[in-house]
Amino acid sequence: MYIVQIASECAPVIKAGGLGDVVYGLSRELEVRGHCVELILPKYDTMRYDQIWGLHDAYRDLWVPWYGGAIHCSVYCGWVHGRLCFFIEPHSGDNFFNRGCYYGCPDDNMRFAFFSKAALEFLLKSNKRPDIIHCHDWQTGLVPVLLFEIYKYHGMENQRVCYTIHNFKHQGFGGPEILWATGLNREPYYFHYDRLRDNFNPFALNFMKGGIVFSNFVTTVSPNHALEVRFGDYGYGLGHTLYLHQHKFRGVLNGIDYDIWNPEIDRFIPFRYTAQTLENKAKNKRALRERLLLQDVEKPIVAYIGRLDEQKGVHLVHHAIYRSLFKNAQFVLLGSATEPGIGAWFAHEKRYLNDNPDVHIELGFNEELSHLIYAGADILVVPSHYEPCGLTQMIGLKYGTVPVVRGVGGLVDTVFDRDYDSCKLPEQRNGYVFYHTDHAALESALDRAIDLWYTAPDQFRQLQIQGMSYDYSWNYPGKEYLEIYDQIRHRWS
Ligand code: ADP
Repeated sequence: MYIVQIASECAPVIKAGGLGDVVYGLSRELEVRGHCVELILPKYDTMRYDQIWGLHDAYRDLWVPWYGGAIHCSVYCGWVHGRLCFFIEPHSGDNFFNRGCYYGCPDDNMRFAFFSKAALEFLLKSNKRPDIIHCHDWQTGLVPVLLFEIYKYHGMENQRVCYTIHNFKHQGFGGPEILWATGLNREPYYFHYDRLRDNFNPFALNFMKGGIVFSNFVTTVSPNHALEVRFGDYGYGLGHTLYLHQHKFRGVLNGIDYDIWNPEIDRFIPFRYTAQTLENKAKNKRALRERLLLQDVEKPIVAYIGRLDEQKGVHLVHHAIYRSLFKNAQFVLLGSATEPGIGAWFAHEKRYLNDNPDVHIELGFNEELSHLIYAGADILVVPSHYEPCGLTQMIGLKYGTVPVVRGVGGLVDTVFDRDYDSCKLPEQRNGYVFYHTDHAALESALDRAIDLWYTAPDQFRQLQIQGMSYDYSWNYPGKEYLEIYDQIRHRWS
């Protein structure tokens, strides 16, 4: 099969969070299974050019229709750790992708509407006719709309679209100008409840809703989150749309790439280890302490890695720092804030705890350091308010770092409480789970993890080994996505 992924991220060259990991990991898995995969991405000024091999211009004169005229683009091509990627660079005063950031600009909707249009125009003009176009999140929600309303009539009638939603909170909104710019026009047609009109704001077009309505298949990133968005509040207003399209909606658990996230071969950690050589994890713990100037004492290290965002339960992350200190553990935090207020809050904590030899707060994004933390820490907290899938707990499990998670979204599908899980046998349990959002709830799980580390090290080690034995690679999800691709390829709609 010939599959093209259109996305706004691909790790490690463009990574703001889990989306990048998923786009890369899934592409790799599909290729390993013998399929041809190509990726189309924006050419951001801030992406990591050192992670691209053989970057060269592949298509110089791509003219993308935009409003009444057209924007001249160049398409560059290069390999990102073996994956063939095309990067679209528009040459216009809008400077869509030269903003020093990936997201967060006031005209993000225009930037990614343009990207969606340019990606399809590139496929059309370069005569690429993939069997499947797989696009991701609101940034590419307009791809199926444009494909089935415009490009289908220019020779792309056989392409099928799978649309994966990684985060329902960010849906992408715009007014009629989006329709004029992209050439969709026909306001009354698109501003219809059955198409792109937002379910709650009659004056807004909703990109994600467009993606759901027009795609051949829609997935989200874990089975439990698929239930939450359909029947709970986490669909952020799209529950009814999903109900109407339930026949083509499913949750597929994300995987992680065990070529990158694997303590046996990880090149960012000083001491490699497996479940059989778990004692080497202690050496990484020492290396982590040395690197972060923590005191070398007989204490467990509790870690948090992730965005500092309301979604991640920042209040509980904050509480976990002080609770860990209270319970005589050390704490390491690696996170980048998504809002200035949260950034200022944690910057204050960092200054306040600066002289404490048991805490290190690292603000910013640091891929290399994250590997060392996964390898060196004993316990990983993931107290998310909501979590579509979550990759950090799966990475933690692979590194023998016991996850303490809130029971939401994909965390429910991947972490099973050592003491209370009623569906798994004791030898299949791998972490600690709590449900409420208050401090006491977090303590009920974190305390048990720390206490086990102190009082029953053998049992703690056994729990680590049980976690390491889980297979959360792309093996199963890869197979599931291929089944979906097959299904939509042979269906007329
Ligand atoms: P998200 O909601 O951000 O997508 P996930 O748990 O799905 O959360 O994925 C997070 C990914 O980003 C993991 O690979 C994690 O290691 C990485 N990550 C998050 N924040 C940072 C950071 N500050 N530095 C390095 N890696 C990070």
